[in-house]
Amino acid sequence: MTTSIDLINKAPEGTKLWLLHVGNLECDEAWFKRGGGSSTRSNPNTTRERRKLVMISVLIEHPTEGLILFETGSGKDYPDVWGAPLNDIFARVDYTEDQELGAQIKKTGHDIKDVKMVVMGHLHLDHAGGLENFRGTGVPIYVHEKELKHAFYSVATKSDLGVYLPHYLTFDINWVPFHNSFLELAQGLNLHHAPGHTPGLCILQVNLPKSGAWIFTTDMYHVSENYEDSVPQGWLAREHDDWVRSNQMIHMLQRRTGARMVFGHCAKALEGLEMAPGSYE
Ligand SMILES: [Zn+2]
Repeated sequence: MTTSIDLINKAPEGTKLWLLHVGNLECDEAWFKRGGGSSTRSNPNTTRERRKLVMISVLIEHPTEGLILFETGSGKDYPDVWGAPLNDIFARVDYTEDQELGAQIKKTGHDIKDVKMVVMGHLHLDHAGGLENFRGTGVPIYVHEKELKHAFYSVATKSDLGVYLPHYLTFDINWVPFHNSFLELAQGLNLHHAPGHTPGLCILQVNLPKSGAWIFTTDMYHVSENYEDSVPQGWLAREHDDWVRSNQMIHMLQRRTGARMVFGHCAKALEGLEMAPGSYE
């Protein structure tokens, strides 16, 4: 994959990126597609769609910053950690041991202990559970200020407990908040605040020297239909007006950069892409 678009802030030569497959979930489509499966007068008895979703993380080897991890998956033994009814609503399917975060990182020739920085798009349980690996390590965990505040508030007041869980929202994690709508995290790595799914969600834009720009949207878009057809999210959506604004920003960014889009949970969007140990430069 190449692009002729002139990218501002390109990552240095030698930057490498791996897509990590850290699990599979199955759930009712209406969680992530607005109106999915709803009945109408002419069709009162619709059948509900069940969809299989992938969980992914991204590992980046950066010549000056070292090993950077974007999101962490659900963490070890998450069906037990989540408990009922969550582990039935979002059921783990087709599990193999090599989907564990540490095992995925091993495939790239690295060790999870060598990760120098973790960047969180948002802190929902299926993206942040793997932060348990970084408790007490001092590794900086970058997350938007609004997301960090909202996650702790949601758990403490139980206003949105269930999508955030207390076991990874702890004080032995080296939280490093960032505050603005844009942050150049390192040469070639840009974070854009894109609220909507959650108040502090950020997408990661990586400008690789050979393969060009990539945009990792985390759950701003769960599946390609949310982006391609601008279908808002279903029961997992929170701030609708913010989502509409962020949706415009991301479409413009994609147009400007020609970026390859990678969504939070879309298996279809990964077709034709190599997962680790395959890599991109
Ligand atoms: Zn998710």
